[in-house]
Amino acid sequence: MSFLIVGASVAGTRTAIALRQRGFAGHIALLESEEHWPYDKPPLSKDLLADGPDPDVPRLLTPELAAELDLDVRLGVRATGLDPARRVLVTHTGEEFSYERMVIATGAHARALPVPSGLAGVHTLRTLDDATALREALAGRPRVAVVGAGFIGAEFASAARGRGLDVTLIEALEVPMSQVLGDEVGREISSIHTLHGAGLVTGARVERFLGSEQVEGVVLADGTEVPADVVVVGVGAVPNTHWLADSGLPIDGGVHCGDRFEVDGFPSIFAIGDLALRRHPLLGVTARIEHWTNAGEQADAVAAIVTGAEPPSPQLPYVWSDQYGARIQLVGRPSLGELAHREGSIAEGRFRAVYTDENHKPIAQVSVNDARAVAAFRKNHRRGGSLVDLVGEQTPAR
Ligand SMILES: Cc1cc2nc3c(=O)[nH]c(=O)nc-3n(C[C@H](O)[C@H](O)[C@H](O)COP(=O)(O)OP(=O)(O)OC[C@H]3O[C@@H](n4cnc5c(N)ncnc54)[C@H](O)[C@@H]3O)c2cc1C
Repeated sequence: MSFLIVGASVAGTRTAIALRQRGFAGHIALLESEEHWPYDKPPLSKDLLADGPDPDVPRLLTPELAAELDLDVRLGVRATGLDPARRVLVTHTGEEFSYERMVIATGAHARALPVPSGLAGVHTLRTLDDATALREALAGRPRVAVVGAGFIGAEFASAARGRGLDVTLIEALEVPMSQVLGDEVGREISSIHTLHGAGLVTGARVERFLGSEQVEGVVLADGTEVPADVVVVGVGAVPNTHWLADSGLPIDGGVHCGDRFEVDGFPSIFAIGDLALRRHPLLGVTARIEHWTNAGEQADAVAAIVTGAEPPSPQLPYVWSDQYGARIQLVGRPSLGELAHREGSIAEGRFRAVYTDENHKPIAQVSVNDARAVAAFRKNHRRGGSLVDLVGEQTPAR
């Protein structure tokens, strides 16, 4: 059997490696539009932006490992079309690749603001080239504005403050992260910015950028001007499905797939990682999950399914974020429950909030600098434990 994997980031490379580890002996081709050997993304907004000597690029796959695993890696090859009836994929050069089974792992790209820019100094942060350009820009000690106070914007702001730069975050919501964490916890978590000397403007919409060739600032809808030599726009990600537009695959804000990651109506094609839209077996909702761990877990599950093994048990979504020396960890989907318990604070350097469902069972948790709380939450969730089991009697449930 021949396997074609499109997109060689964490979902794609981990599928190839897991297939070999699970004994798949057929041909595996891995197509990637970037020229770089596959690299990992989380360090791009963390170690790669920190002051100091140039850090090593974190590789997901090297030429040596690819040779050892007999992977046919094609870099700089962009998929532009797919004909599932003929089982043929077409690339930007017109080359055709046929397949028996395929994994779509083309992930997502950074969402742009609906505001014209074209100015030097306005960046997004998704790829190694983006991070390299930003690292160079930060070395010039610019004034920094960050549009969007989600995880990527927050990590960039933290890296810039780590270099002692003036940083202002501009957030459209009244409370950063409130759509994910709720108002109370969103307010607590985002207080980390002001605690570390960054400016935070909320409920603010970007009207336009200042400058003719080089950006000089950001103008907000209320007329406020935020001066800046570097602007990072971190307002979410859009799935890379444009190349599938004429394929007939079910695409609607992601590629729809089923329990076993087979694209709905196309059983020889799997979709995994940031672009896969699927009913989560533990959450009971259909969602794309843009987390590193999720992409790796799905890759391994597909490799198991293809090789006839039992796929690993599904896990709750998990994401971490490193900001100002603190590690924030989120398990589950807080928006599917109610805030039931909180302890500690950002100012104290340790914090935890637990969310429960309608049966008062913990279903999500956000914690700061508390790895043991994550392990305890997972264990409690597996056992179907109560809030008291998790946090003890002394803490008032609300
Ligand atoms: C800066 C940054 C920091 C992050 N930090 C964290 C973190 O701390 N914790 C966490 O849980 N998650 C983090 N994430 C999210 C995590 O990295 C993603 O969930 C993960 O990369 C998704 O993997 P993926 O393989 O599905 O997609 P992607 O990583 O988006 O990879 C898709 C690949 O497909 C390629 N591609 C796209 N279109 C085509 C095409 N037409 N033809 C061929 N190739 C194509 C792309 O070049 C890319 O290499 C971070 C993301 C970013 C950008």
